[in-house]
Amino acid sequence: MPNRIRVTVWGENVHERKNAIVREIYPEGMHNCIAQGLAEDRALSVRTATLQQTQHGLTKSILAETDVLVWWGHAAHAKVREAVVERVLGRIWEGMGFIALHSSHYSKVFKRLMGTSCSLTWREAGERERLWVCNPGHRITRGIDRCFEIENAEMYGEPFAIPTPDEVVFLSWFEGGEVFRSGCTWKRGNGKIFYFRPGHEIYPVYLNPFVRLVLRNAVHWAAPEGQNWIDSCPNNPIEEAHEKLVAKGPRLHKEGEKGFR
Ligand code: ZN
Repeated sequence: MPNRIRVTVWGENVHERKNAIVREIYPEGMHNCIAQGLAEDRALSVRTATLQQTQHGLTKSILAETDVLVWWGHAAHAKVREAVVERVLGRIWEGMGFIALHSSHYSKVFKRLMGTSCSLTWREAGERERLWVCNPGHRITRGIDRCFEIENAEMYGEPFAIPTPDEVVFLSWFEGGEVFRSGCTWKRGNGKIFYFRPGHEIYPVYLNPFVRLVLRNAVHWAAPEGQNWIDSCPNNPIEEAHEKLVAKGPRLHKEGEKGFR
């Protein structure tokens, strides 16, 4: 099928190997379960990558072939190498979409994108979560009628220390009374960012058909449109100016000089 959206699902792949309950829910790892939910859409071409692979499975060539990167991390944020973080950020600025899931609010990549602490309040009590659609016309909420529920969820509550989102597409209510901006979008450089709250690993959240639908919708929304942004800060030489130009005054740089100004 031509022009399929190329998705890479990245998972830290730690608790599903160390915790018996998580392993029972996700015997093939959370990243594979998330990938299978996305692959139900034939318009998506889905691969996975994990922390344990060389360069965390996010080599230059794999990222170059990724239109949307989905990220799930929790226990091993600090183990993600800075060189990989920089590489992922560079691709986002060029135009790759980035979907941060659940505890990835504290991932290095998401925190760098936001520029804030990304702190929130939380409670692990298996309580019910109801996610309200804030924008029924949005690509990410397509197919959801007003709200959907997750029977057992970890609570995330406000204040959520993020920059004001471009759009809040879901707002969560929890059985204990808290609310949370659980589906938020931003743009950074040429890349579209979506944060989606559900996904605590001790509950089978990524088997929920509504969660899977939202993730498929989000990939369609986050996919790049048009050309990549060439983010290399090039020099436009005097002789190539669109209007004839004579240099005036002193100059710090030699004509044609590359690199940092
Ligand atoms: Zn959690």
